[in-house]
Amino acid sequence: MNIRVLGCHGSQLPNFNTTSFLIGQNVLVDAGTITAVLSLKEQLMIDYIFITHAHLDHVRDIAFLADNICHQHRKKPLVIVSTKGIIDAIHRHLFNNVIWPDFSKIPNPRAPVIKFQIIKPGRRQKIGDLQVRAIDLHHVVETIGYVLEEKENAVIFLGDTGPTEEAWKIAGKTERLKAIFVETSLPDGLKDIADISGHLTPLTLAEELKKLTEVNPRIYLYHMKPNYRETIRKEVVAIKDRKIHIIEDGQIIRI
Ligand SMILES: [Zn+2]
Ligand SMILES: [Zn+2]
Repeated sequence: MNIRVLGCHGSQLPNFNTTSFLIGQNVLVDAGTITAVLSLKEQLMIDYIFITHAHLDHVRDIAFLADNICHQHRKKPLVIVSTKGIIDAIHRHLFNNVIWPDFSKIPNPRAPVIKFQIIKPGRRQKIGDLQVRAIDLHHVVETIGYVLEEKENAVIFLGDTGPTEEAWKIAGKTERLKAIFVETSLPDGLKDIADISGHLTPLTLAEELKKLTEVNPRIYLYHMKPNYRETIRKEVVAIKDRKIHIIEDGQIIRI
């Protein structure tokens, strides 16, 4: 499994993009950064986008991707995958013909540019070439993570989340689990804000990782607010009992 980090931050500054991971050539997890990084040819190859939640740093580039691939003679629609609640929020608040055109009906409702596909947490299903399972998380809005499995490997993308239980239990039972991508948005000095806004700091991350007893995947840290990146990096180094990899925009990770 090849994972290209198009963006891995919780906000935007020059050289720091919002969250989006390209899996192989045709699957994205989240859509914070697509169109400023991928060529049009690469954009046309995307078949599925797994969305963790409706916050703008995770969905905004669906809008520009849909616009770019419209009238490009694709045979299949671009499929946006998430729960019913998250899909409804994206449809109602982004593709609502006010903020942006409703590309699920353009150029016509029978052959639209984008199609929404609903996934229910807990149930494992085949989507494209991957086995996919959604996991409920704890953020300020409805949010899910994804277990993605191919033949030899499984990886977990946890979306934005504060402390949670179920996700770590599922991780512990996932066979051939090679990596977990987990957020740490804010430094420990802002733990109160992190707790209220459903995010982790290095301290709460360390507590979360203690829940992961049965498996030992690589831990990839992302979704830092860019202005706190260095503080978070120093605080994460102090977590001695586990090696944590802080990822960067543009990085390619081979699983
Ligand atoms: Zn976010
Ligand atoms: Zn969020």
